Amino acid sequence: MKIEELAPQCVWKNFYELTKVPRPSGHLEKIQQFLLDYGKSIGVDTWKDNAGNIIMRKPATPGLEERKGLVLQAHMDMVPQKTADSPHNFLTDPIPAYIDGDWVKTHGTTLGSDDGMGVAAIMAIMADNKLQHGPLEALITADEETGMYGAFGLEAGTLQGKVLLNLDSETEGELYIGCAGGIDVTATMQYMEIEPEEGSKAFRVSLKGLRGGHSGLEISEGRANANKLMGRFLREAVLQFGVGLCQWNGGNMRNAIPRDASVVITIDESEETELKALANKCQATFASEYATIESGISLIVEECDVPEGETPEEIRDNLIDAILACQNGVMRYIPTIPDTVETSSNLSIVTINEGKAEFNLLVRSSCESMKMLQAVSLESCFTMAGMKVQFSGAYSGWQPNVNSHVLAEMRNAYKKLFGKEPEVKVVHAGLECGIIGAVNEGMDMISFGPTLMSPHSPDERVYIPSVQKFYDLIYHVVEEGVK
Ligand SMILES: [Zn+2]
Repeated sequence: MKIEELAPQCVWKNFYELTKVPRPSGHLEKIQQFLLDYGKSIGVDTWKDNAGNIIMRKPATPGLEERKGLVLQAHMDMVPQKTADSPHNFLTDPIPAYIDGDWVKTHGTTLGSDDGMGVAAIMAIMADNKLQHGPLEALITADEETGMYGAFGLEAGTLQGKVLLNLDSETEGELYIGCAGGIDVTATMQYMEIEPEEGSKAFRVSLKGLRGGHSGLEISEGRANANKLMGRFLREAVLQFGVGLCQWNGGNMRNAIPRDASVVITIDESEETELKALANKCQATFASEYATIESGISLIVEECDVPEGETPEEIRDNLIDAILACQNGVMRYIPTIPDTVETSSNLSIVTINEGKAEFNLLVRSSCESMKMLQAVSLESCFTMAGMKVQFSGAYSGWQPNVNSHVLAEMRNAYKKLFGKEPEVKVVHAGLECGIIGAVNEGMDMISFGPTLMSPHSPDERVYIPSVQKFYDLIYHVVEEGVK
């Protein structure tokens, strides 16, 4: 069996064509041209906007003009990841997709089913002249994977439709009705270093072996934050031995839970043994607190060269206080949807060195006002410690509406077609819906997709039977329309 012969053929043949069009994020000329040519070939009005998005518009079937306009949305770019031994060139080569049992996979590259399946389904719907539908549009966005640039560049008024189906989710049977927005919080402080005390020894204390993870998707799992644990160790070390703080390096990505942190501290040489005992004690405490969550926490003390400077005592205490006091982890769950995170914060990166301290945090929330409350609460905390606070990189979330018409319609359609209830979820990470919804006020949105495994990796694969269900659901909703 060939990929283009799988069911539904109208989708798989498009998907197969897409595997032949190179489209890594940042290099979209070929896929844009392909989609423009495709629109022309099926006689649908198709154009490229200023942000590089491809838009298609198909008038309603006669008699159905009064229906609410429907927008089908997917992204055209794919993540170019390959195995170390793959000779694949993402700029020129077709993706080597093949069928293995119930799965479509590739040899050593990402497959581009994220979001090629969404694009393929849109192409099939747009080309179907038997389907009865209201006003229909397609929005195929540019460069979603590297920063949602196409969605950010979408101008108000480009779309006429009032209902949007985002086809970029990864588990068949799940309907997404909300996502988190985000804002970066950066706290800084400059200070004059002082000289370490005469006769001090310096030690590097390294905390390692934490699981880390995605600061949105995995924030509710209660994993340890390396900067927070290091703050606790340091507080004890200051109380017991008055250690000097010279350097701190914890975490390296704003959207990741920090897995490690190291500090350089000074201490009177007579207290070396007790310092090591304290580290052992803290390691044991942390291991026991996180027994079922973390398994490899280690706190290692090694002697190092004495640095030229360290923070003055008052600054040291303020910085440690701020790290202990700042909110980290889940702040609130969504009142209308059980067990679903609404607002969180992650103390991602801490750097203290040579007269400068900087803390980077990422706040996420599906509720705009809670997002800002969380951001200003952190600002209050860091301002009390004498730090300067800046907000940047803010983007909108998508606040779930449990009374949405498209949700009701999709739920009914799912039950009718497959005889069971779909799961309704909110994702605690950014989706294009948040950005698109911010420029198209009142847009009724939902996100779903076929089942993909390991997207963004060379293990990416699509579960073949889920594609028929995915397409049946789109087809049904387009045919029935949404109130
Ligand atoms: Zn995607």
